Amino acid sequence: MGQSDVPQIISADDCSAVSLDTQADPDPDCACPIDDPLPHARAALPADSKRPYVCVDDLYTDSLGNDLRLVFNPRGHGGVVMLNGAACRLLADFAQPRPLDALAPALRPVARRLAALELIVPAGTPPQAVPDSRHTLTAWLHVTNACNLRCTYCYLKKTTKAMDLTIGRQAIASIFRSAEAHGFRAVKLKYAGGEASLNLPLVLALHTYAQALATRADLGLRGVLLTNGVALNDQAINDLCQAGLQVTISLDGVGAIHDAQRPFVNGRGSFTSIEHTLDRLAAHAVTPSVTITLTAHNLARLPEVLDYTLDRKLPFRLNFYRENDCTVGRRDLDFSDEAAMVALRAAFARIAARPPNHSLLSLLTDRARMDAPHNRPCGAGHSYLVVDQWGAVATCHMQIEQQVAHVSAPDLLGAVLAANGGLYSPHVEAKVDCQACPWRYQCAGGCPALAQRVNGSVAARSPYCNLYRMLFPEVLRLESARILTHAAI
Ligand code: SF4
Ligand code: SF4
Repeated sequence: MGQSDVPQIISADDCSAVSLDTQADPDPDCACPIDDPLPHARAALPADSKRPYVCVDDLYTDSLGNDLRLVFNPRGHGGVVMLNGAACRLLADFAQPRPLDALAPALRPVARRLAALELIVPAGTPPQAVPDSRHTLTAWLHVTNACNLRCTYCYLKKTTKAMDLTIGRQAIASIFRSAEAHGFRAVKLKYAGGEASLNLPLVLALHTYAQALATRADLGLRGVLLTNGVALNDQAINDLCQAGLQVTISLDGVGAIHDAQRPFVNGRGSFTSIEHTLDRLAAHAVTPSVTITLTAHNLARLPEVLDYTLDRKLPFRLNFYRENDCTVGRRDLDFSDEAAMVALRAAFARIAARPPNHSLLSLLTDRARMDAPHNRPCGAGHSYLVVDQWGAVATCHMQIEQQVAHVSAPDLLGAVLAANGGLYSPHVEAKVDCQACPWRYQCAGGCPALAQRVNGSVAARSPYCNLYRMLFPEVLRLESARILTHAAI
């Protein structure tokens, strides 16, 4: 876009964007429950042109050069918006309230689009409240405590015990009872472990049962298998397709980098097995999502694994290493903010060279997400249940041994909400260190379990706070480059 007196606005609306939440694309979710943003009706185009509008306070802006400025409303749902100089001047005109019909007729449609993107709002409107998202009840079903890998950063004290059908069905029934009793509209089941594919017959049986209960209760249902991907043969993939289950695979590098971080019990690397599984999934037209966990060991090679996922057109999500009871003392897994930024910048350059046609705003920032404002980083203690192989219930899978309820409870979520001592995800406004942060509705303070472990309280800010603050502006710039690549302008 060159310099022009004609105001021009570019946003993701100008792309034929693919949502990661469609049936065609698998759940990009990783282990932690990322609250599904509440369905949001974008601001209606103002019908009353006599009503005064005013520019939203606290917009984040950044110059992109070439007469283009990036604008982002942290409380809004418009995502990254780019304005040329003339459109910026029009936005600045709304520093004082003014009705749309005070504008020249040619400018009114542009102002209406500013309103639809939530950059200007009716004068006198209080700052947009960010609602708590309690739309989906998410449950982690720990179908086995066994695993065939020994990943360096794993938090689980593994045993050979698997969940049985009786406990599993009791858990599913309790989850649906709670979803109905607490007014949720959908249930998301994460079949996990240990390595969930080691107990695949149970997963399939439970999901069939869950589908029946969802139909009976008129609730939405999504199921995802969280797997290391080493043992999914053709039959298993067929069964997963038949069951309508999505697949999320952990992949931390290419070849030896992945092998060092995610070896088999006998020390052999697992990359080759996963690559065969990815080939098999592709042959069945199944697109798994990939989660990449960053530690000091694979950080510098992040661009390589991103190239690998981009080559295969796999949606991916980045997670940062979190210290836990099993890794305490392993300082070699920690990385500095500076090292992370070097690696992430190099990785972002690879993405910018061939950006995918779906939003990047929820995929690159660990526990934060920039696609929808939210108050809590996860559903722990609110909208998330973790059921272990015995039927004990915890609020977070990384603290699965902290039982706060049992699946036999008549109101499982009620029992979790009433429990004392379980880990929970506080509201970001209750986090003193985060209250003035411009990114609080994107970050919401980070993983509470990690904040508690490293900084002493779930209400403390994330140990990754400084890294997040450096990262967020770069993710917005990357998203702007993505939009410019795909926009029909
Ligand atoms: S942890 Fe840091 S970046 Fe996140 S909301 Fe709190 S102050 Fe902001
Ligand atoms: S507390 Fe942390 S590890 Fe547990 S569910 Fe929340 S974000 Fe995930």
